[in-house]
Amino acid sequence: PTDRTDATRTDDVKHMKWWGWGVEGVGFRHEDKPGFAPFVQKAIGLDLWAGERTERPDFSRLRVPASTASEEFVAVLSGIVGAGNTVVDDLSRVVHTYGKSLRDLVRIRAGEIARSPDVIVYPADEAEVQSIIDASVEADAVIIPFGGGSNIAGSLEPHMDESRVVVSLDLGRLNRVLEIDPDSGLARVQAGALGPDLEAQLNRDGWTMGHFPDSFTHSTLGGWVATRSSGMQSDKYGDIADIVKGLRVVRAGGVLVIRAVPSASTGPSVREMVVGSEGRLGVITEVTVQVHRLPEKRAIHAYFFKNLDHGLAAMQKIAESDVSPSVTRISDAHETAFSLATSKESKGIQKKAQTGLMAYLKRRGWSLDEMCLSFIGFEGDEAHVKRQKSLVDRIVRKHHGIGVGKGPGALYDQKKFDTPYIRDFLLDRGAAGDVSETAGPWSKLRGIHAAVYEAADRAYEKIGHAGWAMSHMSHSYHSGACLYFTFAFVFGDDPLGEYDIVKRAIQQAFIDAGGTISHHHGVGLEHAPWLEEDISTEGVAIMSGLFGAADPGGNFNPRKIV
Ligand code: FAD
Repeated sequence: PTDRTDATRTDDVKHMKWWGWGVEGVGFRHEDKPGFAPFVQKAIGLDLWAGERTERPDFSRLRVPASTASEEFVAVLSGIVGAGNTVVDDLSRVVHTYGKSLRDLVRIRAGEIARSPDVIVYPADEAEVQSIIDASVEADAVIIPFGGGSNIAGSLEPHMDESRVVVSLDLGRLNRVLEIDPDSGLARVQAGALGPDLEAQLNRDGWTMGHFPDSFTHSTLGGWVATRSSGMQSDKYGDIADIVKGLRVVRAGGVLVIRAVPSASTGPSVREMVVGSEGRLGVITEVTVQVHRLPEKRAIHAYFFKNLDHGLAAMQKIAESDVSPSVTRISDAHETAFSLATSKESKGIQKKAQTGLMAYLKRRGWSLDEMCLSFIGFEGDEAHVKRQKSLVDRIVRKHHGIGVGKGPGALYDQKKFDTPYIRDFLLDRGAAGDVSETAGPWSKLRGIHAAVYEAADRAYEKIGHAGWAMSHMSHSYHSGACLYFTFAFVFGDDPLGEYDIVKRAIQQAFIDAGGTISHHHGVGLEHAPWLEEDISTEGVAIMSGLFGAADPGGNFNPRKIV
């Protein structure tokens, strides 16, 4: 179905730096944010002015296990894709080993690579994907599809005891929008397209897919589908599960084709089985997605609420009402304090306005330690945006919130893709910063929030370090919403042991309080221990049956999810 002549060259496929997030030379800075160092000192007892504590990762010190792919097998793959599109060098194999979870970053910095893929292959079209898969299954090799390498659920790494040859199948050259059906708003897109490349191609013709995860710049359409991703404008555009209408998935011996129809009653949805399958059902080569005309106007407004209870009640009312914002997000008091601390120094009129606002809120009896910052996004034509905003304003007022205009929202919009760099900044200074997210019904959200804070506090006590937790609610639905937690602490002698204690406590709290183990990060290896408690023993049995029947040799990304 695709034409290979104008495919992107392998040398032009973009990857993140081997040891951290994003591209070389870009990072988080605190010097221009005067509130940040005191904030971090108070939250986790880390002195940022003391500088970096750990050594810069040095590739020459890594011990990369040798490739076990035989020359004959590499020659077979090269025969399919061309010699320059099959690589076995150490740097490429390291780049394709892990995703970007905190566990991955800690291990890569410590030079811990138990098992790397043995060979990386860059097909130019679906026919080449089919040949690679057939040859690999024939040779009983393992195939791990690679998108942007941004997952944080341990979805990519080969199992440390894997004795078979491991092929990392990088979809980076399959990055084109192939066709747009303007009548239906459906676009056929190759699965390896990174967020910015995909949106640029759609925008050129006046369309958008509207899927903007925080990892947008370094993740791919195929990866989003394979992990059941969700973007920050999901309230309007839906999660990836809603956006995907059709699929092409290459399996051993043939292609699974799901034609794009608006809805179907064809038994259990095979489309849904592929969504979230993390490479276990085959390699997604093409996705037909719902696209929308670029909105005439787009605005993100900021609001303050007296406390989280008032704010959550307002978010719930908005979800139940006729209003359809693109973003509804509210930070709890801790995250609000963090956001204010990461703001650049304000000067002149802006500074006066900020000081005036805080004084006004205090006069109204608000405690600045409890107030919560919310962002609500609106999209559409001028009249629609105006009407939506006035409806939201009314709900906000009823819940004693106040609007503070578009300034903070515009700032949030600008820096949203920079925030991921903070984890590397903290690791350079010997501290962990990571996230866990869940979803639960409205009736349980406050309970989940409280349970996670309690669990995190107990975990910090156990490891004996001061720790920090903060949270926001985003991605709302009629029945509930996603709660997203960030946690941080300074490492002691056993970084991963300490990390496990905190991460496990938070995941278990999700389950115990009625939430799911993940709203949008997938399962991989990281969340697999809780899957049975989440979907029941019978649910796991059905899933194991599906993977076992679809892939009897266990060649497709084995041991992930279940
Ligand atoms: P990869 O990491 O390369 O792969 C993930 C899994 O999908 C693997 O199992 C892989 O084998 C499989 N896979 C990849 N491509 C294919 C394919 N074509 N066919 C079959 N299987 C395939 N996620 C969100 O949803 N929302 C967010 O806001 C968000 N923010 C993040 C912020 C940060 C800082 C980080 C580090 C991660 C974030 N994530 C977020 C998680 C991550 O970006 C998503 O899981 C993303 O969907 C992964 O896409 P990828 O292309 O990087 O996939």
